[in-house]
Amino acid sequence: MRRFWLGGNWKMHGNMAQAHALSTCARKLAQTELPVQVVIFPAFPYLQLAAQCLQGSKAMCGAQDLAYQPPGAFTGAVSGEMILDVGCQYVLIGHSERRHVFQESHELLTRKFARAVELGLRPVLCVGETLSQREAGQSEHVVHAQLAAVLDVFGPAALRGAVLAYEPVWAIGTGKVATPEQAQAIHAHLRSIVRNHDANLASSLPIVYGGSVKASNASSLFAQPDIDGALIGGSSLDTLEFTAIVEGAKDLAG
Ligand code: PEP
Repeated sequence: MRRFWLGGNWKMHGNMAQAHALSTCARKLAQTELPVQVVIFPAFPYLQLAAQCLQGSKAMCGAQDLAYQPPGAFTGAVSGEMILDVGCQYVLIGHSERRHVFQESHELLTRKFARAVELGLRPVLCVGETLSQREAGQSEHVVHAQLAAVLDVFGPAALRGAVLAYEPVWAIGTGKVATPEQAQAIHAHLRSIVRNHDANLASSLPIVYGGSVKASNASSLFAQPDIDGALIGGSSLDTLEFTAIVEGAKDLAG
């Protein structure tokens, strides 16, 4: 039986009422033991509300970012301890908007990754190439370097409990989804890199795709052998669309 991991990244969207409605939707989708793990990633102000709403269900909650520093005098930052304290299990590291809008470097992301692992938060490490890098034939090289920034420093043990998300920058929020073949090729490449370090980890590590996933394209992506689910932005803000994606994965998981 296949297992799928489906994350909903709400980004900087929503308000209290929407956060409540979307969390309630995630809760309903995950009331029983299923081969599909649902995780939602609200903005910081709604994390506690979402985590409380999910209590008693199998759905989980994660933050979109964390500080690499321990709690202290870091105005505006949010520590991993706080994220855990409000009931989260996951944290996104290296989302393309953090890399490209906020100019977060490999070095900074490696520190954030280390902090998450140290605290027992499950990191979702996001990697992906820009359009110009794809057109220059550099996709594999770029994602390899982004993964190596963590794998070469901490070794494969740091990826236990983690999720790897392949999110081509040109596909995020653009409506231009990677073809199942394009995504499968990069996922297989990422898995082979992990396999070179640890074969068991390579087969159990969820490698999920992100970039304009919708109910209409999700099942052809999930049919690929190395695509273990999705990190979903826009479609996770629409309860009908998100529900259809999750239900489709449940059907495929059989
Ligand atoms: C994302 O935010 O990680 C994402 C993949 O967004 P979208 O699904 O809207 O492309």
